[in-house]
Amino acid sequence: MDRNADIKSLKGIGEKNAKLFQRIGVENLTQLIEYFPKSYEKPEQICKVMDCREGEYAAVRVRLTGSFTTRKVRNLTISNLTAADESGNLYLTFFNMPFLKNSLKRGIWYVLRGMIKKNGTHVCMEQPKIYSEEEYDRIAGKLCPRYPLTQGLTNQLVTKTVRQALDRIHSWEDFLPEELRKKYKLADYEAAVRKMHFPDGEEELIGARHRLVFDEFLLFILQIQLMKERIDVLPNLHPMIEVADTGRLLEALPYKLTGAQRRAWEEIEKDLSGETVMNRLIQGDVGSGKTIVAFLALLMCVGNGMQGAMMAPTEVLARQHYEEVKRLTQQFHLSFHPVLLTGSVPAAAKREIYKKVADGEANLVIGTHALIQEKLEYHKLGLVVTDEQHRFGVRQREALAGKGEGAHVLVMSATPIPRTLAMILYGDLDISVIDELPANRLPIKNCVVTQRDREKSYRFLEKEIAAGRQAYVICPMVEESEQENVENVTEYTERLRQRFPESIRIVCLHGKMKPSEKSQIMEEFAEGKSDIMVSTTVIEVGINVPNATVIMIENAERFGLAQLHQLRGRVGRGRWQSYCIFVSGSDKEQTMERLSILNKSNDGFYIAEEDLKLRGPGDLFGIRQSGILDFKVGDVIQDAAILKEAGECASEIIKHQEIESEKYRGIWEYLQTKKECKVDFPLL
Ligand code: ADP
Ligand code: MG
Repeated sequence: MDRNADIKSLKGIGEKNAKLFQRIGVENLTQLIEYFPKSYEKPEQICKVMDCREGEYAAVRVRLTGSFTTRKVRNLTISNLTAADESGNLYLTFFNMPFLKNSLKRGIWYVLRGMIKKNGTHVCMEQPKIYSEEEYDRIAGKLCPRYPLTQGLTNQLVTKTVRQALDRIHSWEDFLPEELRKKYKLADYEAAVRKMHFPDGEEELIGARHRLVFDEFLLFILQIQLMKERIDVLPNLHPMIEVADTGRLLEALPYKLTGAQRRAWEEIEKDLSGETVMNRLIQGDVGSGKTIVAFLALLMCVGNGMQGAMMAPTEVLARQHYEEVKRLTQQFHLSFHPVLLTGSVPAAAKREIYKKVADGEANLVIGTHALIQEKLEYHKLGLVVTDEQHRFGVRQREALAGKGEGAHVLVMSATPIPRTLAMILYGDLDISVIDELPANRLPIKNCVVTQRDREKSYRFLEKEIAAGRQAYVICPMVEESEQENVENVTEYTERLRQRFPESIRIVCLHGKMKPSEKSQIMEEFAEGKSDIMVSTTVIEVGINVPNATVIMIENAERFGLAQLHQLRGRVGRGRWQSYCIFVSGSDKEQTMERLSILNKSNDGFYIAEEDLKLRGPGDLFGIRQSGILDFKVGDVIQDAAILKEAGECASEIIKHQEIESEKYRGIWEYLQTKKECKVDFPLL
């Protein structure tokens, strides 16, 4: 079968299943086999109930003994059941699965797998996975892929479908020439893909992953470098001059720019008035004050009679920027005439906005992706700022270019990539680093606790709230699916509402909410109308609520340090002492040691580097990656060594101008086709 064949040509994939796969972006076989597991599971060898240890995953072979009882607790259906093997009884609890009553048969042997809890002398398991004996025999001790899922799509279905595709694909061309594979000791593409899905052991998996990560990095770097070659020669079609407004704003602000902010601003000023079009990345740690620098650039742009656009990844963040610009404009009589354009603006109002932008009445548009929608036409677009938008599709760039020829571009990112790595990724692109926090900040106080200290942490939250502050709680994660996470966060919120007095107002935020609903909850929180915000990790990037002083992060051990650092950056934004409580689900020494790095430092660059040192290949899976730049497989921090090699390889290819030559034809073609699929790279 051809690699571009539709997945509907596989057995078992009809319209309905094809739709599910479409939701995860898989329509043809190539996309399917490049849909890699997010982690692997090694089902335990079966043990006796008596030998199960508290807090550990175990698999037991048991027979159901008691009867199935179900009760409702608020919106939760709880079912209980007992089972036993020859060594003792096992007490089972299932949530929202009353239908199991019909499928589980008494007297039959099953293998159950789950986390063990002990309740007095009772050995208990909550929500175990259920297998037949034969089923379990096949997987015990092996590495089984766990795919990212969406509602309705099961891990089993993805596994089966991938297996089938791997069996049926016959063309496995490798775009990397053998010479390069040898030089960098890389597996061939086919082997790498197969082993990535179904590795025989960890070593094989590491090898497979190595090759795929190398590919991703190499292609990314090549794309950036090629784009840079094109961009470097673009003349500045919108040369600007200094304007008085920016100086006035700087004078009027209640604070002085930090040295790093000032340097970034000066670099931008120079770019905007320079010979070639600006393509600058501002990299600054959370809370380092990037927004004001962007506002200054936009102010210079409108002062020169041009329009500016500022794009944020979420409505919530877009609205926050808009409100802030409006406030500054009113307070200091700036020359902004801003409009807010997001997906949830009603159609009629949208048309009004389009008109204002088209005839130049509005000189600043703040919004989400709606900004590059076709209908929006600019009058004279001079500068585009993207906030927290680390990646930006090539098609989006083209769409924008069509709207304002030669517009300057400023990308703001909080990803703490050590400078050495940033240099490899971006080559000699223009980067301003804001590596200094405003002076009035008290460093965040951190502590790492175990779940046993949860109650103490809650009491601490109560104390801060009593003092007029606010708190975030990042809810424990259940990995399975976004849907389950939603149930989990609502349930956890309910539990907190029971735990805290009614006077403490608790709200809940998760990824499945409508953007307008999220905006409203966020806004009310920002206005101090609620006290605790419980959230999944969707808690919006960039959100700035200076009155929030505590963030409590459950299951902190499951996150990459860089991500934890980002989450922590939601507090410590005002003049009060702020706190971050990492709740670890495990008190293993290694876990505590890792988390204690965060304890030692509030510096994102330092953390990223320490994380890098600490993590060996054994840690590659299971922990969430840093998420920097959203590579599919690779992780900039974790795979820094591979990144360095890929960088070397890319410069060699470019240096010899051999990219188009016969030797690298495969790479060249791959780059071309990938562009039409969806390899994104930053708007730089
Ligand atoms: P980030 O870099 O994470 O986007 P923001 O731009 O949201 O950070 O800034 C965080 C907070 O710091 C804001 O409330 C902002 O007003 C404030 N701030 C920015 N620059 C300074 C400064 N030089 N001194 C004091 N406060 C500042
Ligand atoms: Mg920001």
